[in-house]
Amino acid sequence: MGSTDKAVITGFICRLCSKMNRFVIHIYGEEGERMKLAEKINAYLPITVNINDPLPKTACLHCIERLEAHHELMEQFMFARRRLNTDNKTTTVASSSTTTSTTTAPTSSTPPC
Ligand SMILES: [Zn+2]
Repeated sequence: MGSTDKAVITGFICRLCSKMNRFVIHIYGEEGERMKLAEKINAYLPITVNINDPLPKTACLHCIERLEAHHELMEQFMFARRRLNTDNKTTTVASSSTTTSTTTAPTSSTPPC
């Protein structure tokens, strides 16, 4: 284990945006595990984190915030899909929306002369 890089830096490199940040969360730390950061990163992002890879295991708060927002969005989509799927099993999609109010052109009550 040669220490090629100087580890004494004023922060941690974010695994997601590669920027140096003083406030980070360790992906495999206590909080990172609680937030399931590794799972979310592997599920949603085009990168893969592994506890054994040599890359940084930290993510900045900004990236985590965005990851969480993305997760919420995905949960919403999953929930909606599940709901639509279960609804379609029995009920037909005949949500007759016959509210086609044909807006006739307003009779212009302006006399021609
Ligand atoms: Zn970041």
